[in-house]
Amino acid sequence: MDPARRPRYLQALGLEPWRLRSAPAGLLPAAAPVEPAAGSAPAKAPGDWEGLQSAVAGCRKCRLCETRTNTVFGVGPRQAPLMVIGEGPGADEDAQGEPFVGRAGKLLDEMLRAIGRSRRTDTFIANVVKCRPPGNREPAEDEAEHCRPYLEQQLRLVRPRLIVALGRVAAQRLLATDTPIGKMRGQTYSWGPDATPLMVTYHPAYLLRNPGDKAKSWEDLKRIHRFLGESR
Ligand code: URA
Ligand code: SF4
Repeated sequence: MDPARRPRYLQALGLEPWRLRSAPAGLLPAAAPVEPAAGSAPAKAPGDWEGLQSAVAGCRKCRLCETRTNTVFGVGPRQAPLMVIGEGPGADEDAQGEPFVGRAGKLLDEMLRAIGRSRRTDTFIANVVKCRPPGNREPAEDEAEHCRPYLEQQLRLVRPRLIVALGRVAAQRLLATDTPIGKMRGQTYSWGPDATPLMVTYHPAYLLRNPGDKAKSWEDLKRIHRFLGESR
């Protein structure tokens, strides 16, 4: 990490800068077993990247296609070691066709920058649903189910070393659970047939509304940073 960058995120979080302590090896909790349902269902989505992109661009599998302006496939290098999953596009994302480009997106960029990462260099960013739920409501269960093969195929093709679920909706969908997000933070889960490690942290839009939890978010980011450093 570029130490000069850290204070910017900490400022954005409203926290004093402090030093990253290096964690003793072996402190990460063992990956918890997860129901296979979330990751191992056979893909109904095209197996190659271009096919997948065009399938999403033309998708009409759920009602969200009727109100979207653009589908929002995802952004980042195809071989990214880190894959970050949000909930679904908002108004800015729907207009631009790229995830996390609004206010929450700016904060996400700062969060990634604080651990030396970005969507341009090494982080793939996608959402549970590829089309905007109108009025920024949560994606309905059937919408998320219809969209699930696309996200699963993206995860299989990118094959990240770590998946980070941003917020309750992404975490609960990816892990097929209704555990509250506060209980999922600080654990290492695993996703899919290759048991890819998965961590959960707060959504940046939640942090904008609940700045009191920004310190916990920074703890999560340090854990993510440590994990990626150790698992290389
Ligand atoms: N919130 C999300 O969950 N995803 C986006 O792409 C933007 C905001
Ligand atoms: Fe298709 Fe997903 Fe968009 Fe629904 S949200 S229309 S399943 S791409």
